Amino acid sequence: MSVYLDNAATTKPCEEAVRAALAAMTENFGNPSSLHRAGLEAQLAMDGARKIIADSIGADPSCLCFTSGATESNNLALRGASAAYGRKAKRIVISSVEHASVEETAADLEKKGFEVTRVSPREDGRFYAADFLNACGEDVCLVSMMYVNNETGYILPVKETFAMIKRKFPHIITHTDCVQAYMKLAVKASALNADLISLSGHKVHGGKGVGALYIKKGVRVLPVVTGGKQEKGIRSGTESVPMICAFGAAVEKLAPTINDRWERLTALKAHLMSRLSEMENISVNSPDDGSPYVVNISAEGKRSEIMLHFLESKGVYVSSGSACSKGQQSGVLGQFGITGKRADSALRISMSAETTEAELDEFISALGEGMEKVRG
Ligand code: PLP
Repeated sequence: MSVYLDNAATTKPCEEAVRAALAAMTENFGNPSSLHRAGLEAQLAMDGARKIIADSIGADPSCLCFTSGATESNNLALRGASAAYGRKAKRIVISSVEHASVEETAADLEKKGFEVTRVSPREDGRFYAADFLNACGEDVCLVSMMYVNNETGYILPVKETFAMIKRKFPHIITHTDCVQAYMKLAVKASALNADLISLSGHKVHGGKGVGALYIKKGVRVLPVVTGGKQEKGIRSGTESVPMICAFGAAVEKLAPTINDRWERLTALKAHLMSRLSEMENISVNSPDDGSPYVVNISAEGKRSEIMLHFLESKGVYVSSGSACSKGQQSGVLGQFGITGKRADSALRISMSAETTEAELDEFISALGEGMEKVRG
């Protein structure tokens, strides 16, 4: 049996999600845009999932636009909002630790005539709302700031920042990538003061290839993908009904237990930290008050990839940082002050609702063996 501790990369679909997808693929395979009964049934199934997900963020179902995942949601948010609002205000503000799907999209918009201001953490490794506010001005059309960082679990002050920005610059559109926060922390559109929120199905046990972008009523997002005008014309293309139903089923299961799971994961993280503190040459890169679902450490003198494969040989799966960067070192750890050899030896342990203390103990024992056996 393997120990899967790479849940920030993806999670195992829950049984409810698998069943919902199977039903949509076998019994209910109509095209939701078709006018006959089979189409209507697919539409109704999709509406059910839309309502569950919208309810979970305190939004009206009409505000939810289904996508193929958070990468697409982030692209739609940045490209779509900047196209709608960026004719005069040609500056975009983002945090310096965004996922590549925000960072690369902003960099592409930069090439196309937008100016991008990246707000970094201060020397203490923390982000401050005032720094985002100071970076804003009349020339800014959009601010994008993730809620929980996928590499370290750091929680950014989104609520406070967006409240300050909306007070001083009500014209600025606020976007938050909530992929690593959703179903772990309360993600409520109005409490966060967010105009746009990106979500992903496969990070919440729902399955890959589905995501959503919440678009506040009255906020304009121009389409990136054009065609048959599905999803109110904002995202054309036949919706992936099975994956949308799976996403809805997973959220329905997880939504009632957000707080209980946070508490359980906090206890698990405390156990992991205590076991790590007994080991030599291990440093912790995640903040104490970060998300308990993600713990980033460095195993001094052992390159991430080599240690990762040693752990894999022991049946333990972790990540060397962000899975999306496929072994390429991202600049995010550097932004948090983790550089050089320490960054080269970083490992990300990411947990889920199903992670147990026994699994963490197995990881610790494999890591201990790795510290002795792995060279470089
Ligand atoms: N944003 C964050 C913070 C992520 O961690 C990820 C995936 O790792 C994404 C966006 C991309 O999500 P998806 O795989 O659904 O495209």
